[in-house]
This record gives sequence, structure tokens and C-alpha cells, in this order.
Amino acid sequence: MRMRHILAVIFAILVLAVPWLMYHPDQADLIFSKIQPIGDQLAAVILSHLPKSILDIRSHYNSKPGIFASAGSSQKVRILIVPGHEPDYGGAEYGSLKERNMTVELANDLKNFISQNDRYEVFVTRDDSSWKPIFADYFKNNWSDIAAWVKLHKDEIVNLTRLGEYRQVAPPVIHNNASNDVALRLFGIDKWANENNVDIVLHIHFNDYAGHGNGPGEYSGFAIYVPQREYFNSTTTKALADTVFKRLKKYNAVSDLPGESSGIVEDQDLIAIGAFNSVDAASMLVEYGYIYEPQFTNAELRSAALNDLAFQTYLGLQDFFDDHSALSANGSFDTLVMPHSWSDPLSEKSSNNADVYALQTALLLDGDYPPTGSSLNDCPRTGKLGNCTKAALETFQKKRGISGEKGIVGTKTLQELNKKYSVRAI
Ligand SMILES: [Zn+2]
Repeated sequence: MRMRHILAVIFAILVLAVPWLMYHPDQADLIFSKIQPIGDQLAAVILSHLPKSILDIRSHYNSKPGIFASAGSSQKVRILIVPGHEPDYGGAEYGSLKERNMTVELANDLKNFISQNDRYEVFVTRDDSSWKPIFADYFKNNWSDIAAWVKLHKDEIVNLTRLGEYRQVAPPVIHNNASNDVALRLFGIDKWANENNVDIVLHIHFNDYAGHGNGPGEYSGFAIYVPQREYFNSTTTKALADTVFKRLKKYNAVSDLPGESSGIVEDQDLIAIGAFNSVDAASMLVEYGYIYEPQFTNAELRSAALNDLAFQTYLGLQDFFDDHSALSANGSFDTLVMPHSWSDPLSEKSSNNADVYALQTALLLDGDYPPTGSSLNDCPRTGKLGNCTKAALETFQKKRGISGEKGIVGTKTLQELNKKYSVRAI
């Protein structure tokens, strides 16, 4: 009975469908042209896409190494830090400042924080002078494989576009095109990250804006680039970028460049974060500010500023894992600028940049900085006591009933600052 039914169905297909396709060659074409790209697409998907979910990364963080994992099969969160640009060329330059060196300094600061936490395994791609051997070797031994791998992902995008599963969008901000070998090294880093089961990739950059000559440019602030929403690593990256963004935003201006002003910017074309849907890890690129901003050009502040940006980034990662133990190391302060002890009065003429920088930070924590009506783009923390700081000081002093010290830090203001901000609360 059942067999007869099956045979009847097969017979019906043979008798009805085959002649129909034969007499409708255009329809048959349509069917096969649909099937063919789907076949290609499936092959690529099976070969190369294992995007990290939020749950994957969190479970790595929360797994206790050593119980189920045998030696070598670590379940730690693998994080790859990529200081932007090549060891010896590329990136923004301003006076004697070089972005490619600043990115290394921040990367090493961040590595220091992350290394103190045994739930992470951290890699950095290069130092000031060269690629780390593991990456130099990888580029050398896999150069043609990397190119083939890029081609595979490009083809997949072509197929997906043909199927209407993918659409090209104009980038919100135009970036400089990387030269071929630079691009291939960036793709190589993406490929290495996939093969080495990396959970998080973090690219570090500083921005620049063309045409400002010798003086500072018109825009300021930080922005985080994340993969465009159609890419498989977009959701996880966005969740991570949100927590990092929140930390950075407390102390730093968000970019006021049109196209970056949302702070978190989706991008389809940046190789670093997985152009052509090529990266499995959560992968973001942080532009930590514009190279000509005062906290970077001021040599007395630069290292402290970079270290604090690294600390904010680390706190952002910890927020993603809901682990706030890093904070207890610094008392109640979520910035390394605090605690700070002031010993000398401060005025417009003060040359102690670190004291003024800490003053600006204390005023920010007190809710007085930037002064009402201004943003951190108008009033960055500069280490110089100018109009922004004077206005904020006035509010601080008014709240505490301090008089006779308008626009300066006299003995009474000094005492109030030290009372609240010189001691690490436990
Ligand atoms: Zn850069």
C-alpha cells in the first residue's frame, strides 16, 4: 500500500515535472541558477564561519581552567590586541607624535591590565620595532593562503549579494585605503584569529583629520567601529563595544566628526573588523581620540592619559563579563588619575600639568566639569587651568561655600579637594 503510493509519486514526477522543465527551459535555468550559488554559499559557510556568540565568550570567562580542560586545551578568553599600523610606517603623525607608537604604548598598557586576570590569554601583534615572531612567521609562511582565503570570502559576498542576502552600504566615514601588502597582513591577522580560536580582537588607533596644517584640527573625541549588522560577528561585537563605550564616555569626548557622532559606528569595509564577513571573533576598532588633542600632545600627560584609556577599556571588558573586581583594586575610583594629592595652590600660571589634570578629573567626578553648556569636546582635560576649569571651579566652590578663591585653587579649595580625592576609599 505504502510502496504503491511512493511509486505513484515518483511516476508522477517523472511524467509531469520532467516534460514540464523540458518545455520550460527558462524556468529550469532559473531553478539551477538559484541552486548553484546556494551550493557555493553553503560550502563557504561550512568552511569558515564559526562566529563567537556572547554566550561562548562569557562561558570561556566563567569556566574554571583545570577541572575539565586538559593541559593545552585552555578555556580562557583569548584576546588579540592589534596596535594600529605597521611597526615602521603608516598612521597619523603630528609634530613628533606618531600614531603607530602611541598605539603600541596603549596596547602594552592594556595587556598589563588583562594579564593580571588569569581568565584571559592575551596576544599582541607587534611592538615598536617589529611584528612579534609568531605573526612575522605566520605572514611569511601563509602569504598565498591568506590571499586565497580572502578570495573565498569575497566570492561568498558576491553570491550572497546575488541572492539578496547581503547589501552593499556606503561607509559612514571614508578611510584611507590600505596598500596591498598592508591589507593582506590585516587579513592575515583576521585569519590567524579564526584559526587560533580568538574570542575578542581589539584594534587600537588614533584619528586624524586632514587639512589642519600645523595646528590642531577641528574634530575631537573617540569612536568605536564595529562590523556592519549583516556580518556574523556583529551582535557579539556590538554588545562588547557597548560596555567599552560606556566606560570611555565618562571621561572622554565622543567624536564630533559627522558620521562618528553616534560613538559606535557600523562599518562594512574595514578589514580589521572583518570585511567580507571574514572574522569569527568579536572584533572592534577603537579610535581613541584625535592625535592633536591636548592630553596626547602634552608630554607630561600623555602616558597617564594612554594608561587611563587602557584602564577604561579593561573596565569595559570586565563589565561585559559582569566582573567588577578590578575596581576594588583602586578603591571606589574608576580612573587611575585618582586618588591624587595636591600640595600647591593652582592658578592660570601653574605649570604643574599633572595637578591641573587631576583637578579637572576631580571636578568631572564632582559633576562640575565640563561646565554647564559645554561638552568634553569644548572642554577636554588639558592639564592647563583655562576658562573651562575656572567655570567648573566656581561651581565646586559655590557648592562648598568657599569664597575668595575665584578662578584659582587656594588653600580652602585645596583642602576640600584633598579631603575627597586624595584618599583611596576602601
Ligand atoms: Zn590609525
